[in-house]
Amino acid sequence: MQIKCNVLDRQFQMYQPEYEQAALRVLRSGWYVLGNEVRQFEEEFAKYTGKKYCVGLNSGLDALIMSVRALGIGRGDEVIVQANTYIATVLGITENDAVPVFVEPDEYYNMDANKIEQAITDRTKAIMVTHLYGQASDMNSIVGIAQKHHLEIIEDCAQSHGACFDGRMTGTFGIAGCFSFYPTKNLGAFGDAGAIVTDDGAFADRLRMMRNYGSKIKYHNEIEGVNSRLDEIQAALLRVKLAHLQELNEERKTLANRYNEGITNPEVILPGLRQGAESIYHQYVVRCAGRDALQAALEQKGIQTQIHYPIPPHLAACYRHLGHKKGAYPITESYADEILSLPIYTGMTFAEQDYVIEQINAWAIEENK
Ligand SMILES: *Cc1c(COP(=O)(O)O)cnc(C)c1O
Repeated sequence: MQIKCNVLDRQFQMYQPEYEQAALRVLRSGWYVLGNEVRQFEEEFAKYTGKKYCVGLNSGLDALIMSVRALGIGRGDEVIVQANTYIATVLGITENDAVPVFVEPDEYYNMDANKIEQAITDRTKAIMVTHLYGQASDMNSIVGIAQKHHLEIIEDCAQSHGACFDGRMTGTFGIAGCFSFYPTKNLGAFGDAGAIVTDDGAFADRLRMMRNYGSKIKYHNEIEGVNSRLDEIQAALLRVKLAHLQELNEERKTLANRYNEGITNPEVILPGLRQGAESIYHQYVVRCAGRDALQAALEQKGIQTQIHYPIPPHLAACYRHLGHKKGAYPITESYADEILSLPIYTGMTFAEQDYVIEQINAWAIEENK
């Protein structure tokens, strides 16, 4: 059996008539960028998250960069970020010439709240928290620390659409909830797209201006903006998927529970769930001391896996100038050596998953030495 890490056509086929109708509606409308579909998606997504405003953008990276910029964070400022996040979170900071200050993750792969305060200096402006792999971070503690030190919270929700902490949705704990709708995400478009949700009207206004060359009125450029507009066709398709997001997330939870119960190989550490936190299992990430051998063995059996992420940002070549040495963030680095993301996607059959479980349970480190 051949099992891919991600299969995207099944989630299309699941609601194919609805997607085709939405796409045709836009094609026939004669209006393709920032129009009615975008407005309606923004309204629906704001309502879904429980925020007042949503600003549709080009990508998740833009959401991160523009949140930092719209808060006036720049050169000389520091932003706290978890060390094992995706590079985009860190780029959101460095694209504004601000300095990322890394904090190690906890056993749930999210920012270790106990290590935040020691990273705060008088230059710290914000905490950027990623709800990695779909699990909500420890937001009670993080909100408390942010309030105590007068710091903004920016949430990277690119992997956590609909995941809650203590019943409250990720993306609603700080000034900005940043979302990516890249096709592989739980709420994925059919191309690039992103958004920011917020309760702050002035902040939302500034973002709306910024995404369209810094102008509210055409050719009246009030700030130095960018082009980060959301396409009508993506907005229309996202509206279709948003209406089904609940059931799509439930499906992933079912698959994750089947992995939790099915994988019994003692060499493989299963993902935990923090008290109060929910996960929508954007990724199902296990850990294994013999990770490379396990990955190779699964590959041999036709099972594709991935590593999120093999090189932590502080060791990425692009950040050599920040001067971090190997060993600086040992937990992050050991995770990078041991984590493995198993196949999990919309439309994955139980038969496909049983095959993955069977092969993982059949694997033993000794045989591969
Ligand atoms: C996907 C992702 C992003 C970037 O989103 P794009 O839409 O690809 O720009 C940012 N942060 C995290 C954690 C992601 O997984």
